[in-house]
Amino acid sequence: MMTAKSFDKFYAAVADGVARLLADNKNLVCVLLALNLPLFVHVYLMIEYSPLVVTDAVLFALMVAKLATEILIPRAVKEIREYREVYDNLDAATIEITHNESNLPFVIFILGESTNRNHMSIYGYDKPTTPNLQRRLDAGDLIVFGDCVSGATETMPSCQRMFTFYRNEMHDDGRPWYTYTNLFDILKAAGYHTAWLSNQEVTGIYGNVPRAYANRCDEKNFTTLHDTETTVYELDEKILPLLDASLAENSYAKNFYVLHLLGTHMNYRARYPDEFDVFRPEDESAEVPLQRKYQAAYDNAVLYNDFIVEQIIERFADKDALIFYVADHGENVFEDGEILGHGPYGDKWQFEIPALIWLSDKCKATRPDLCEKIAAAQNRPFMTDDLIHALLDLLEIHTPEFDSRKSLFSPDFDATRKRIYKDHEYRDGQLIPLSN
Ligand SMILES: [Zn+2]
Repeated sequence: MMTAKSFDKFYAAVADGVARLLADNKNLVCVLLALNLPLFVHVYLMIEYSPLVVTDAVLFALMVAKLATEILIPRAVKEIREYREVYDNLDAATIEITHNESNLPFVIFILGESTNRNHMSIYGYDKPTTPNLQRRLDAGDLIVFGDCVSGATETMPSCQRMFTFYRNEMHDDGRPWYTYTNLFDILKAAGYHTAWLSNQEVTGIYGNVPRAYANRCDEKNFTTLHDTETTVYELDEKILPLLDASLAENSYAKNFYVLHLLGTHMNYRARYPDEFDVFRPEDESAEVPLQRKYQAAYDNAVLYNDFIVEQIIERFADKDALIFYVADHGENVFEDGEILGHGPYGDKWQFEIPALIWLSDKCKATRPDLCEKIAAAQNRPFMTDDLIHALLDLLEIHTPEFDSRKSLFSPDFDATRKRIYKDHEYRDGQLIPLSN
């Protein structure tokens, strides 16, 4: 029998061996990249910080080897191939605009990361993790959407669905996501200056889809030039100087910004500076002390995320602007005592995301119809694989693929649509197997 503690030693020895090999052989870095090393790190973290007691080390080692050979290596190869096809396909796209009354000068889309709305006080969480958003809400500046779920529970599949007409029902069509028209080409054709500013990786196994979108934009900038294998990430505040520099140069009549944050992604403690280390493990609910430590760090990351969103809002306070914040997916922070993180087979915590709209005073004063349209959508059941329809509706831009029944903001919205991902349906706050 092997306990979690003796497993730590086993992993420490493996990590040492890998470090020594890396020091001697630069090519091995590429091999490890293809093997999707971060997933192994995730597995390691799950073991270290879960109450799991592993009874058969050999069985576990075989499982990891099986995972590597049957899933990770083919996946890496597939993604490298796909990456090339994405660029060829996107370049070949032709855009037809059928209706364009867009005139909002500043539309800012904050793409959040791994944020479970059940940890936000504006969604009823019992700790004050979103004081700035709460203030905006109390002042009547903010619309909080109560029933939004993500279209997938990992960054790449979620981003594929958010910014193209590809949606979950199309999964079995055999037509890849990048053959569907993307938002950025449409916005450009409709007269928007598009910009992608990011505190996420430039490229790497988790960053290729956002990178492909960034390349479709008129302007793109990243806080650092790192890839997935680099362990040092910047705090989200590093995106603010990029935004300031872009706004200082800005002379366009219509602007669409995506601000891609690291948000509340693992490693939670690395997401916020010391002054946001407010919530303590002893305030948390999990029974296992290490799990409480993770929950506290997550809540602090949510608190810092609230601060970052406020910093962005302040930069548009005197402009005619709309800010839309949506997380790519949620996160399970030992909600049910066992799972940490997010993955391909999500649970309800990984689907339940925050979705918020802030409108500037100028925007509110000049666009009462828009305000009404947004307010009416507040409690509609939405899945973000239809986000492109909602965004085009807000901006009053239509293409042949646009369907008002799929737009969160349309009176035509089809609230009866089943929100299905893989073999589960999200219904009444639960994830239900389709066979039921
Ligand atoms: Zn993500």
